[in-house]
Amino acid sequence: MPLSVLILGGTTEASVLARQVAGNPRLAPILSLAGRTTNPRAQPIATRTGGFGGINGLVRFLRNETIEAVIDATHPYSDQMSTHAVAACRETGVPLASLVRPAWQPEPGDRWQVVPGFDTAACALGATPRRVFLSLGRQELHVFATAPQHHYIARLIERPEREDLPPDLRLLQARGPFDRESELRLLTDERIDVLVSKNSGGDATYAKIEAARALGLPVVMIARPHKPAGHILTDVEQTVAWLHDLAPRGV
Ligand code: NAP
Repeated sequence: MPLSVLILGGTTEASVLARQVAGNPRLAPILSLAGRTTNPRAQPIATRTGGFGGINGLVRFLRNETIEAVIDATHPYSDQMSTHAVAACRETGVPLASLVRPAWQPEPGDRWQVVPGFDTAACALGATPRRVFLSLGRQELHVFATAPQHHYIARLIERPEREDLPPDLRLLQARGPFDRESELRLLTDERIDVLVSKNSGGDATYAKIEAARALGLPVVMIARPHKPAGHILTDVEQTVAWLHDLAPRGV
């Protein structure tokens, strides 16, 4: 029997991993998505959508589906899902590997102000009205209603559902990746004074950081949360190799 694998996804790496394990006779993978995006990209492996119902729900899922390995490939800021994965795998004895995307490091010319969270990012923008590019998710924008003096531009895949958003907010609908030239154009055309970003790591959203550096713009960088992990892997190739080591031979 092939190894039954649960991939906790919602990231570029999870989609790349799904492509690499699709059709592998030694693996039977299921990709799990939280369901935040109504129209997610099509995936080449079996997919399930929606929360499991906390740690107990995940434990039930692992047992009901006889999962034999879990890959946590969730986003660096998805700390709750990772906390649940560590607890549920410990309880069931299912091996867990965590695909950890290395954080970006500041380079010469970067003007980062690192803050511990979203609330402090809003405070760090200061009292004087500024033109702010919020490179954040739609669940995170409402925090900036506490600093209503600024003009905000946010780029999202989908419109936010919440109503308690900053009063002066313009939404741009787009899905990455974005290149350096288009990020330079956006920051220049919109006369952005400051960028707010998570330290997501990876290439897909790094161009805005390069563009801010080139323009000498400050970046309010929200530090990563503590994210519990299983066996740490840093790229998709290592993850596939880890699964191959666990998978039965001769399937
Ligand atoms: P989170 O705060 O860690 O998790 C909140 C709850 O959402 C979890 O307790 C779980 O619900 C459910 N959940 C999260 N990821 C799931 C998955 N892959 N499959 C099934 N249920 C999941 O997560 P989040 O930061 O809201 O992120 C949600 C999804 O968006 C993740 O798949 C993540 O990889 C992706 N994403 C997040 C960000 C970000 O900046 N946070 C950016 C890009 C993509 P139950 O407790 O009911 O199981």
